[in-house]
This record gives sequence, C-alpha cells and structure tokens, in this order.
Amino acid sequence: MKIVTIVGARPQFVKAAAVSRILRGRENVDEILIHTGQHFDANMSQIFFDELGIDEPKYNLGISGGSHGDMTGRMLSGIETVLESERPDWTLIYGDTNSTLAAAIAASKMHIPVAHVEAGLRSFNMKMPEEINRILSDRVSSLLLCPTDIAVQNLADEGITAGVSNVGDVMYDAALHFGRLADQNSDKIIARYGLNPEGFALATCHRAENTDDPVRLEQILRALSQIANDRQVVLPLHPRTRSCIRDLSLGHYLENIVTLDPVPYLEMLWLEKNANLILTDSGGVQKEAFFFKVPCVTMRDETEWVETIDAGWNILAGVQADHIVQAVEDHKINTKLEILPYGNGHAAELISDKLLGL
Ligand code: UDP
Repeated sequence: MKIVTIVGARPQFVKAAAVSRILRGRENVDEILIHTGQHFDANMSQIFFDELGIDEPKYNLGISGGSHGDMTGRMLSGIETVLESERPDWTLIYGDTNSTLAAAIAASKMHIPVAHVEAGLRSFNMKMPEEINRILSDRVSSLLLCPTDIAVQNLADEGITAGVSNVGDVMYDAALHFGRLADQNSDKIIARYGLNPEGFALATCHRAENTDDPVRLEQILRALSQIANDRQVVLPLHPRTRSCIRDLSLGHYLENIVTLDPVPYLEMLWLEKNANLILTDSGGVQKEAFFFKVPCVTMRDETEWVETIDAGWNILAGVQADHIVQAVEDHKINTKLEILPYGNGHAAELISDKLLGL
C-alpha cells in the first residue's frame, strides 16, 4: 500500500512523527512524505525531522509566504503534480493548515482517497483560516480520524458520519513517547535558559488572530509582562510574532520576559512538564499542558479543545490583559478533574489499522 503524507507546519511534524513511527513497522506499507515548505526555518522544521526520527521528505515543494490564496494555490498545483506521478492508495493529511487544505483538494479532485487526522475539530469561528481549512478538508475526506467524541459529534452535526471514528489524539501518543526522552537533558536546559528553580511560567503566542491584531497583541504582551513581575515568564517566540512585535514597536513589554527562539520539540516538552503555569494561544500547547497536568490559560476567545476546559485544567481567558491575569489567579481555586478524553496513547496504531482496512 502506498501512502502519500503531506506536512508543512510545525505541529504537523509532531503528529506525522507519531503515525510514521507505527507505519514504518507495518508490512507492505510505503509511506512517501511531501513537505510543502510552509515552515522552513531550521528551528521550525529540520530540527523536528532530526529529533523525531521522521524520514527525509521525498519532495520539498519550497512553498511559503504570500497570501492564503497564493500559498494554497501554489501548494495545490505542486501537490497535484506529485500525486500524479506517485498515484498513492491514500493521501494522509493532518490538522488545519493551508498545506492540509491544498492536499485535500488536490487528492479529492484526482479521486485519491483522503484520510484526515484530527478531523471534526471546530472553533465555530469562521474568521480563523484554520476553521475554513478544517471544514473543507473534512468535507472531502473518506477517512475522518477524530481525536475525541466531541469531534465525532461535530461531524455528525454537519451530516458527516461515513468513515468517521474516534481514534484518540496522536499528540497524546507523541507527548507520551517523546516526553520520556525529553527528561534526559534537564540540567542543560535549566542552565542554558537560566530558569528559575522556584518555578516559571511558559508562554507561546502565534495565532494570526492575535499576532496580526495590534490591540490583541499588545494586551497579551501587557499581561505577560505583568505576570513576569511575580514569576519568571519564558516565551519561545514564533517568527511571525517576533516580527509583529518589532513592526508594532512593542518590544518594551519583553524587558522582564525570557524570550527564546522557537525551541526544539524535546526541549519544549521539558519546559511544559516543568512549568508551573502555561499561557498560550496554541492548540497543541493547550493539550500538552493538559497531558502533563500543568494549569493552562488560553489567550483566545474560543478553543477546539473544550475537554481541557471542562476538566478545569485550562481557562479560556480571551486576550484582555486583566482577564489573563485574573485567570492565573482563578487557577488557584479551580477544581481539576483527572479525565482522559484523548485516547490511550495508541491513536497512531488505530490510524494505521484504518488505513490498512484492518
Ligand atoms: N512547539 C515546539 N517549540 C516551540 C513551540 C511549540 O516544539 O518553540 C511544539 C509544541 O510542543 C507543540 C507544537 O509545537 O507540539 C504546537 O505547534 P504550534 O503551537 O505552532 O501550532 P498549533 O498547535 O497551535 O497548531
């Protein structure tokens, strides 16, 4: 069986690593990787291939930047050309990026079945490019591999039931597997980043809805800077966020914050496990906080990962600075439940079984 997997952005490397590990152990499976090039900085891309043992992509389309339409269009054409020559049995896509949508359109128009990992997630905010990418990708997928029961229900609400199953979350698989490896370099990480042994908060911010809106970005930075008066705040900066902060002259908010370049995944997992608070607008980081039982404040107006909120580990704060600071306080009195809504750490096995028709 031939499977063409399309990846392009940081979270997709993590998810694909979990599944590729399992596919590699299955007989008669030939997995071919296309990297669209959406993320191209070494610390947003190559480091993940090196660290997570992902095979080198057979094709790198080198497509990044430009408007959504321009980027997606160029990817669509590039992916179509590869699919034309490879003619796989499945096209395997992950998540909700422009690479996901381009692959979904290219493959479905060529009548090559599409398997979508992380199907059924919804924020119900059509202003998010990710929401559009998800809905359209799900619509043309034959195998809809959902991470949760709620995702299955979201699809049912849209009338999509064929090919739908809850396989669990591959990011949970990845966090369990790679989390063990992450513990090995503790001393080096503490020294390299000058981490406070009394504890630190870890923050990330990269969603376009936050970085591209000067008011929202300012509020987030103001909150982080305020929190940094009481405890160390460590902020690995996404390249987009760094350039928005520079363009908007908001750098003064970073003076009491430890800012880092994007960190490799194993270091990120270590930082998450050892932080006593996480503040983020990332989907993946919200969940990793939950997996590692670290209280999380989500700096968005809605989240796809509602289970983390229901369980009390995550507070949806919006982006107003005083609301973010208040959410940090609220965590001290919040009840937290021990529930496991994201499967049992074997999502990748179930995904492989589904692809192989087992
Ligand atoms: N991540 C990382 N280094 C960083 C920031 C994030 O390895 O400096 C990892 C993080 O642990 C998670 C994934 O990247 O596994 C999340 O990606 P991102 O926040 O870019 O996207 P999202 O999950 O919001 O789609």
